Amino acid sequence: MSELTMLGMPGVKEVRTPSRVGKTYFLRTFGCQMNEHDSERIAGLLESDGMLPVGDAGAADVVVLNTCTIRENADTRLYGYLGSLKRAKDENPNMRIVVGGCSAQKERDLIRERAGWVDVVFGTHNVHRVVDLLDHADEWGAITEIWNETVSVGDVPSGLPVHRESDHSAWVTITIGCNNSCTFCIVPIVRGREISRRPGDVIREVESLARSGVKEVTLLGQNVNSYGRDLDLNGRSPIFADLLRRVGEVEGIERIRYTSPHPKDFREDVAYAMAETPAVCEQIHFPLQSGSDRILAAMHRGYTAERFLAKLEMMRGIVPDLASSTDIIVGFPGETDEDFEGTLEVVEAARFDSAFMFQFSPRPGTPAATMDGQVPADVVQERFDRLVELQNRITLENNELRVGRVEEVMVEGPSKRDPEVATTRSRGNRIVHVPGRFDAGNTFHAEIRRAAPHYLEGVVTTPSAS
Ligand code: SF4
Repeated sequence: MSELTMLGMPGVKEVRTPSRVGKTYFLRTFGCQMNEHDSERIAGLLESDGMLPVGDAGAADVVVLNTCTIRENADTRLYGYLGSLKRAKDENPNMRIVVGGCSAQKERDLIRERAGWVDVVFGTHNVHRVVDLLDHADEWGAITEIWNETVSVGDVPSGLPVHRESDHSAWVTITIGCNNSCTFCIVPIVRGREISRRPGDVIREVESLARSGVKEVTLLGQNVNSYGRDLDLNGRSPIFADLLRRVGEVEGIERIRYTSPHPKDFREDVAYAMAETPAVCEQIHFPLQSGSDRILAAMHRGYTAERFLAKLEMMRGIVPDLASSTDIIVGFPGETDEDFEGTLEVVEAARFDSAFMFQFSPRPGTPAATMDGQVPADVVQERFDRLVELQNRITLENNELRVGRVEEVMVEGPSKRDPEVATTRSRGNRIVHVPGRFDAGNTFHAEIRRAAPHYLEGVVTTPSAS
């Protein structure tokens, strides 16, 4: 029987024997990339403890819900789901139900008050403890363990076993938490102050990923541009631009992406690092949120529309052929028709390649939830539809400009609609469908033949060496 080595805590090497060999787990993830990445770690830990994944919660010995609290109805959905799990647990009293993630962090003891059949509740900084907490539940009964404010840099889970969804592509956390105070956002409340991982730890993880066959990494943080400010390495704080360059030196890593930068903190040095590091893709996710200065101020975003556009222009001047995407919230409290027209003007000027567009949803616990001037739902819907229509037009126009170009693409796998067609991704993060069967992670060049609103079609021109 193999041993599991856990390196969750600095200087602590705990060796344990897998104790749940042959048992099964079901893991459901709600929310963002950060949660998906945490779920990969949770799956890796459970599998290192001998467990196997199953696709049916009712058939699992352990059910883990990695929760999100960003949307208004997230809690309602969580308790609805927990209600259905109660019936499964009534039939199988040995089933263990585990709730982690942002709702667990925020709701703390409330979850087990409202759903007494839950065995383990753990917070966003306790991912590395999931197997220990299951052991505790087996031996002593239900447990809630939430991080406390004494968490430090060394507590950022690293070196944990990870079960990745992709063999060629991986996320790498560089910071957790956020020091900003955007008034619509629950993240600072549930994930706490920003904590950066040491550059050496990040590089070691990327090197280990490269050795295991990973070719593409996405560096993850709520605000990557403030990376390192909380660290002191020989009297100097590391900066994100240097980290990008160092990750770019790791042999075997062909593509580097990152998310998310913050417009107020983005500086030229990062753009130069992108341009001068061949593995860093010419792509940026640059969250606008609103095109109205009044609303941006109410959101506490720390920039104006003019400043946002100036930074985008700066980046485009330094990084040739830069692709861009953004986030936009429609119907923030107090948003007038004039404010919304401002957003449309900025979107028209920015010409993003794609956008994640949201209707404002008040999150209890955030300042925006209780602000005056909540916008009626029908007005929000009408504005949202106009914004989607505009962005769809721009996305299609941008895609049409790619026709006839040759792009380097990396294979994700067979297309869902046709196994004889591969779904690939360009360096600019555009989906390109290419006829043929190719291994995931393979890269080659494709000539773009057709543009659709949300994807491109191409044909292979140059098979790659990889
Ligand atoms: S930068 Fe703002 S939106 Fe992003 S995580 Fe921090 S508080 Fe939330």
